[in-house]
Amino acid sequence: MLYKESASKLLEEKVKPSEILEAFLRRKEELEPKIRAYVTDIYEKAYDSAKALDSQTPKGKLFGIPIAIKDNINIEGYTTTCSSKMLQNYVSVYDATVIRKLKQEGAIIVGKTNMDEFAMGSSTEYSAFFQTKNPWNLDFVPGGSSGGSAASVGANMVPLALGSDTGGSIRQPASFCGVIGLKPTYGRVSRYGLVAFASSLDQIGPFGRYTKDVALLLEVISGHDPKDSTSANVEVPAFSKNLKPRTELKVGIPKEFMSYKIDKEVEESFKNFVKFLEDNKATVKEISLPHIEYAIPVYYIIAPAEASSNLARFDGVRYGYRTKDFKDIFELYAKTRDEGFGPEVKRRIMLGTYVLSSGYYEAYYGKALAVKNLIKKEFLDALKDVDVIISPTSPTPPFRFGEKLNDPISMYLSDIFTVSVNLAELPAISIPSGFTKNGLPIGVQIIGRAFDEQTLLDLSYAWELNYPHYDYISNV
Ligand code: GLN
Repeated sequence: MLYKESASKLLEEKVKPSEILEAFLRRKEELEPKIRAYVTDIYEKAYDSAKALDSQTPKGKLFGIPIAIKDNINIEGYTTTCSSKMLQNYVSVYDATVIRKLKQEGAIIVGKTNMDEFAMGSSTEYSAFFQTKNPWNLDFVPGGSSGGSAASVGANMVPLALGSDTGGSIRQPASFCGVIGLKPTYGRVSRYGLVAFASSLDQIGPFGRYTKDVALLLEVISGHDPKDSTSANVEVPAFSKNLKPRTELKVGIPKEFMSYKIDKEVEESFKNFVKFLEDNKATVKEISLPHIEYAIPVYYIIAPAEASSNLARFDGVRYGYRTKDFKDIFELYAKTRDEGFGPEVKRRIMLGTYVLSSGYYEAYYGKALAVKNLIKKEFLDALKDVDVIISPTSPTPPFRFGEKLNDPISMYLSDIFTVSVNLAELPAISIPSGFTKNGLPIGVQIIGRAFDEQTLLDLSYAWELNYPHYDYISNV
């Protein structure tokens, strides 16, 4: 079955692009009606593109490899909806830098994936369109906000996908869907063409089922881009070529993390991972990140503040949705935004506007930035002593639809282990560590030094040789 193979192997064996696409297309036809990962499905068109590649001599690192793209990344000629009514009919006029790079390397885009509206959420339930289901059990959420991308890979409908991560939106759904997800160092990947949520935290990153594929995709999308002033001018290592299993590392476990309420099965799975490390020449020790307890409050000041500013452009005048009846320009703004945005987005805009308003700016936003720097410093200091820091990716396995919808704080706490990494601007990967007795995936997170994604990938590779999670195929 071709859809079980790694992209790297399909490339190595020079399987015809149309054969690859057909395998994933069949799988999509079987599962997509139940899972609903895609806002825009372009498999048929992708098949034609794949056919056209069949007669060419392979060129490009992802020649003929299907890929799914989160619907907040612009692809010229296709809608970029951000799963919002506001942008439901907005057609992109340009390619994001990551898309340009994918096309250059011969990748074939098969669809735009569902997400929480404007990437705000942890379950994909805040999509304005429909719910995406977890590929391991349809009664459970796929995580979020990149739930569609994670579910499409978790269901083997595509070997690779892109998501975005502001506070955990790649890692948490990766963990919930039993796949690998990597948030690169801030600045590693260009954000040009990504619809901004919280610009100082947002990063685009890869999903895959095999470490080698994730390494390959990261290598393709990374690099300095003059069009994104925050993209870093640092060399991009040949992540996939350099990949080697590596466990002889100094590993830190923050004691503050372990004092949170963690589900029993998640904790067991994490301990099992720690044991694997210890059995394979890693030195594991407890470390302390004293200010990490402020990560969630700090994130929920900085992210909404930046979101309220970034989303000011959706006013019914420039692009997207516009209300039907209005008597003046103020009513046009107010009604458009009231009708176009969903409840979570409105909550964030209100929070963000409040913390930025005069008189409160210093007390909230200013203070939050100061604590962010403190958290970052604590991570950097800790990483002078250890090579990586580990934790569960999420404190719980996937939860049921509706379970956290009426309790925003409990939804926010789903990201307790992931948000601090964005505040510290560091890279982190989530890898599948096992299943609950009910068959729901569990993941562990590995956090590394700035621009040292290689170590994360090398450790992930060592783990999958020991626990080949990609051999488990979802069957719903
Ligand atoms: N769940 C977090 C939020 O709602 C993170 C989202 C993200 O990383 N885009 O903001």
